[in-house]
Amino acid sequence: MDVPKKVEVLVIGSGPAGSSAAEHCALGGAETLVIERRLTVGVPVRCGEFMPHNEEIRSIFPDASDVQTLFDFPPGLRSISCDVMQIYSPKMRVYDVPFHGWTTYRDRFDQFLASRAEKAGARILTGIRCTGISGNIVTTDHGLIEAKIIIGADGPLSIVAKSLNLQRPADLCPAMSTIAKGKFEPVPKMYFGSIAPGGYAWVIPKNEGANVGLGYSRLFTDKHLHDFWVPFKDMLGHETGHLYGKMVPMSGPIAKTVVGDVLVVGDAAGQVMPVNGGGIPIAMICGRIAGKAAAKRIRKDATLNEYEREWRRQVGGQLDVAVKTKKLTTMAFGNQWRLEMAMRMLGIKRMGRAIRCKSIFL
Ligand SMILES: Cc1cc2nc3c(=O)[nH]c(=O)nc-3n(C[C@H](O)[C@H](O)[C@H](O)COP(=O)(O)OP(=O)(O)OC[C@H]3O[C@@H](n4cnc5c(N)ncnc54)[C@H](O)[C@@H]3O)c2cc1C
Repeated sequence: MDVPKKVEVLVIGSGPAGSSAAEHCALGGAETLVIERRLTVGVPVRCGEFMPHNEEIRSIFPDASDVQTLFDFPPGLRSISCDVMQIYSPKMRVYDVPFHGWTTYRDRFDQFLASRAEKAGARILTGIRCTGISGNIVTTDHGLIEAKIIIGADGPLSIVAKSLNLQRPADLCPAMSTIAKGKFEPVPKMYFGSIAPGGYAWVIPKNEGANVGLGYSRLFTDKHLHDFWVPFKDMLGHETGHLYGKMVPMSGPIAKTVVGDVLVVGDAAGQVMPVNGGGIPIAMICGRIAGKAAAKRIRKDATLNEYEREWRRQVGGQLDVAVKTKKLTTMAFGNQWRLEMAMRMLGIKRMGRAIRCKSIFL
């Protein structure tokens, strides 16, 4: 493989954060290379594959700029749409919370974002793993690459963040998903309680079958994913495929996301909604900001601190509110009865606000 020894901007990871950063960095005129350790972008799928509709993204992040252009997807990436999600309490009380969303095909979704980056002029090399960075030198299993700017979009266990001694998200929650065969009601369902302590289990319907999975917090249990998966799968009673999982940072963004000419973005920066584990929209919003800031830095128009300022302006306030809500609900998560009562007290309206990173105090 012909791996360049020197580039202007090196993006590590081609998930939604990395590809969005690469696209906007290349559009800004910077020579952009993405390295991705997987052989095929987006494969295997480790995701619930649920996306909020654009009007929901605008409602959650009112300061995010130009949502329509960033979240413009071809119809082929959309499986089914929903207007409501059903939230189940530990005692299986159902709350129908209005929410507009759609299910996608996450492998093709990530490939679409990567193709947008390539169209903008970025180069993507797969099958290359970053093993560490030192200054502006990136070590990979295919040799060293020197970069003026390094963008760490390498997910929740970011090697870039580790190399910079950046804080690791305090609550990294194991989560996994797979596809269940069969017919499912076209309504996403989320199950709370001992089924997935500190997190939830889900059934997210698609045109053919459903994405099913769960995530839980290790702050509440020493058990392993499979200890929760087996009873959930038995409850579903559907044939399921191979499980794939990874960590989800559920404690909000890390304190610092820029060090000199290196930045981290997406899961690597803890940029996930801590109330629901949704990270794709923020990864794309922050990825775009990162790419634009990197291109400006190459043109010597700014420092990367502009990235830190701007992502905090566009999504930081909402993530702070969501962290506070998460802390409050965490008090209830440890006990089934308390959780049942807390959900009753919250009711549908406040649940809807919590999901949208808004304060639950009306
Ligand atoms: C089971 C599960 C279900 C989820 N469901 C949803 C959902 O329904 N909706 C939603 O919005 N969010 C969901 N999320 C969260 C969402 O998937 C992430 O927040 C989102 O993928 C973050 O994008 P990213 O680009 O920051 O990271 P990633 O998508 O993790 O991309 C990081 C990329 O970097 C690559 N990489 C990692 N290390 C290296 C390295 N050393 N060298 C080179 N490449 C490297 C990885 O292979 C990967 O391609 C879910 C997460 C999980 C685990």
